[in-house]
Amino acid sequence: MKVLLTGGTGFIATHVLHELLEHGHKVVTTVRSDEKGRILLDLFKGKPVSYSIVGDIALEGAFDEAVKSDPPFDAVIHTASPFHYNVKDNKKDLLDPAVMGTTGILKAIKSSAPSVKRVVITSSFAAMANPQNPPKVYNEEIWNQMTMDEALTTTNAQAVYRASKTFAEKAAWEFVKTEKPTFSLTVLNPPMVYGPIRHHVASLAELNTSNKLILDLMLGKPRDGPAPSPIYIDVRDLALAHVLAIENPEAAGQRFFVTAGMGTEKDMGDIIRKAFPDVAKNLRDDLADSLPPYAIDNSKSIKVLGMKYRSLEETIVDTVKSLRELGA
Ligand code: NDP
Repeated sequence: MKVLLTGGTGFIATHVLHELLEHGHKVVTTVRSDEKGRILLDLFKGKPVSYSIVGDIALEGAFDEAVKSDPPFDAVIHTASPFHYNVKDNKKDLLDPAVMGTTGILKAIKSSAPSVKRVVITSSFAAMANPQNPPKVYNEEIWNQMTMDEALTTTNAQAVYRASKTFAEKAAWEFVKTEKPTFSLTVLNPPMVYGPIRHHVASLAELNTSNKLILDLMLGKPRDGPAPSPIYIDVRDLALAHVLAIENPEAAGQRFFVTAGMGTEKDMGDIIRKAFPDVAKNLRDDLADSLPPYAIDNSKSIKVLGMKYRSLEETIVDTVKSLRELGA
């Protein structure tokens, strides 16, 4: 297939790009600048990859040119969306790029890329999470209940991020319902994503938000908020899920809670202590050890997509190895 992948410079997207190539697909990926595009192509030298520039996904018509290609695209994977907590303006910094980026690409495909049959969007567990009032079991039926008013006014940056993913995903399903495009949509809802780093990271200060939690754990940095969600997936498994989602017709029209399971901060600390004795001395002695009062159900992803998930140990060991290669 010929695939358009948005946000190819990201932590997750670079793994998706690698997995697409492993499966024999041809890829065009969007990046924000020529410089970022050249660095990315360098990582995939000799492979059937090229890039197009989309400077800001929040702008009207941002994807109008990127969706056009010769030969045309068969599938689109939309991963680009801001994941950070440096929020000054809830709408501009997180909500607009998430929601407008999602509706923008769907509109552009519908009007200018009729060859596209499959669209996969990287949503998040954030679009399911109800931290104050969790269900007994998280599965694909569950939605984050936040309202747009709350999203616009809250001063909790993590809540704004969760809202950005929720409203973006809702907008995608609404688009499919009202616009009845000729492509089918699949949405993936991963929780915290950890794993080795394939993308270009200029310095550890610019590390992606989820792997930064592991870096802080390794360095013994005190937390400035609650313990991170213990629900996780390895980035390599998530990348494969994206590719299976475009390849498997049964995935069409479905939402998938893609997760390996749970591991507390203490579980991760214990894995690091055992595998990296020299890092053990840095670990904080107040690592959170309690599991949340709900269960999680990943059975649909196993049954329909055929997912097999890496263990927490493999994920954390390979993340730490990778961070050390980057100088941690
Ligand atoms: P990264 O920050 O590594 O990647 C985000 C990507 O989106 C980058 O390519 C970035 O470009 C691009 N991007 C962000 N905002 C804009 C914008 N306004 N215009 C153009 N491009 C933009 O994050 P991840 O790889 O971790 O996240 C990728 C996706 O996965 C996101 O949709 C995120 O919500 C989702 N996700 C991530 C999880 C995690 O734990 N990591 C968990 C669940 C979901 P640039 O690099 O140039 O800034």
